[in-house]
Amino acid sequence: MSINLDVLNRRFENEAVESLLACFLESHKGRIALASSFGAEDQVLTDMILNIDPLGKIFTLDTGRLPEETYALMDQTNRKYGIKVDVYCPDRTALEAMYQAQGINGFRDSIENRKTCCHVRKLEPLRRALSELEVWITGLRRSQSPTRETMRLIEWDEGNGLIKLNPLIEWDEERVWDYIKTNKVPYNVLHTQGYPSIGCEPCTRAIREGEELRAGRWWWENPEHKECGLHLKREKQ
Ligand code: SF4
Repeated sequence: MSINLDVLNRRFENEAVESLLACFLESHKGRIALASSFGAEDQVLTDMILNIDPLGKIFTLDTGRLPEETYALMDQTNRKYGIKVDVYCPDRTALEAMYQAQGINGFRDSIENRKTCCHVRKLEPLRRALSELEVWITGLRRSQSPTRETMRLIEWDEGNGLIKLNPLIEWDEERVWDYIKTNKVPYNVLHTQGYPSIGCEPCTRAIREGEELRAGRWWWENPEHKECGLHLKREKQ
């Protein structure tokens, strides 16, 4: 696919997020979706997208290991907006094989095991979801972690072969919460208990004062390993 990312990024860098979303939702109708893990940023984008297009597509990856609070928020979100977020689950055969190979909590035993678990429970279902799309929307923000500093507003996701749109890339945490409070957007109660970043229940803990925002994810690993592979950067210009 031939797209000039520099031109696109320049065109939209000073636009309101809602304008950017409206433009992409219209030009890629039916082939664009938000990948939501029900984090604060995803909830902001859910609200914006459904205000623009009540039929806007939102999907999530149900790893089978999410916290109860996230399932409660999924239910609350579906009810508030009158939608059913699309759910992609792990492939049953791969899940059963992984269990036989590494046990139920093998992800704690090695980085390799952890990456296998993230692959089976997240990456493969994500690839299935993205195979139907031209654009995926994420709630990534540059200031969330060192692994996200070089991300851009609009990128080409080489690994999955589609455009990746990061509308909140320049937002800070305060702006996210201002939007949530002002617009009465539902959010995960774990955010009020020291969890700025929420993933699977066994791989997420609350952070301590002064720790970076994703310090509570896979806290037993070094920072450079702390991505599950969903957002590994392999774009071309
Ligand atoms: S975050 Fe943990 S439980 Fe979830 S898929 Fe990755 S390793 Fe498995």
